[in-house]
Amino acid sequence: MLIIHDVIQAREEIADFIHETPILHSAHLSEICGNEMYFKAEHLQKTGSFKIRGATHRVKRAVREGATFVTAASSGNHGQAVAYIANQLGIPATIVVPVDANESKQNAIKAYGGNIEKCGTTSAERLPRAKALAKEKNGVFIPPYDDPFVMAGQGTIGLEILGQFEETDVIVVPIGGGGLISGILTAIKQKKPKVKVIGVEPDTANDTYLSLKNGKITAIPATTTIADGLRTSQPGNLTFPIVLKYLDDLVLVTEEEIKEAQYFVLERMKQLIEPSSAVTVAAAMNRKLGVQGKNVVCVLSGGNVDFSNFR
Ligand SMILES: *Cc1c(COP(=O)(O)O)cnc(C)c1O
Repeated sequence: MLIIHDVIQAREEIADFIHETPILHSAHLSEICGNEMYFKAEHLQKTGSFKIRGATHRVKRAVREGATFVTAASSGNHGQAVAYIANQLGIPATIVVPVDANESKQNAIKAYGGNIEKCGTTSAERLPRAKALAKEKNGVFIPPYDDPFVMAGQGTIGLEILGQFEETDVIVVPIGGGGLISGILTAIKQKKPKVKVIGVEPDTANDTYLSLKNGKITAIPATTTIADGLRTSQPGNLTFPIVLKYLDDLVLVTEEEIKEAQYFVLERMKQLIEPSSAVTVAAAMNRKLGVQGKNVVCVLSGGNVDFSNFR
């Protein structure tokens, strides 16, 4: 299992490539939520999401081990992050995207210097293709969450929060495949365990919720939640044991609550966040966290909004 030492090491490794993002505060949201509301602003991170942390740690490792090429299977934030950091480190990256991937996401990958290969419509088709491509050309496939280096990289957010805001009582984190929350849990629970960590999923993508309830990894059918970074069908083999061991609570939010929270953050805080980030704010605004009068830090995990769907 991942340990805090791995996260501390990750922080040193990636420091020169990422921003230490600010923590924002909102008096108005604090009033609505019944807690002092703070926001770890990863939507202001390089490439627009925290994914650059894990990707940087994993790609640097691959390069050190002699890789001259990397691949990923994601048209979203992970694909953009891998394309960006590979380019920074001077090696080519090929990102395998679905044949129907939207134009703006493809353009973002290209703008960061990545090559695009189109394959199928499901991740079951894309994953083997990205792995096979890597094998052909002395490359390494970079997984989106179920990898110790990726998880440690994402966990650096937990160390930053403790360093930036010592009075933190509760940290609220979105859950997709669980890379982000398992890294943060490792940092927090091995350094300052009395800080509560609460996970949030859309109620239509409740695979980690069901897995916790069943005490074992449980898959759900494909979902279409607006929170596209949280559409994974099951938690990871490496991420889930950490969630099972450490997570204090997991709450579910509706699609309506997610949209309302995203709009609220834009209107009141002037911050553009994507739906996958807005789940944490939705949980707080609808008083689902089960805490009152605490210092709550919501992780705003990304800000890459697809404007064709935004209205
Ligand atoms: C990937 C992603 C998540 C979920 O992270 P996991 O490590 O898969 O749990 C949350 N928010 C955004 C913006 C993401 O890109």
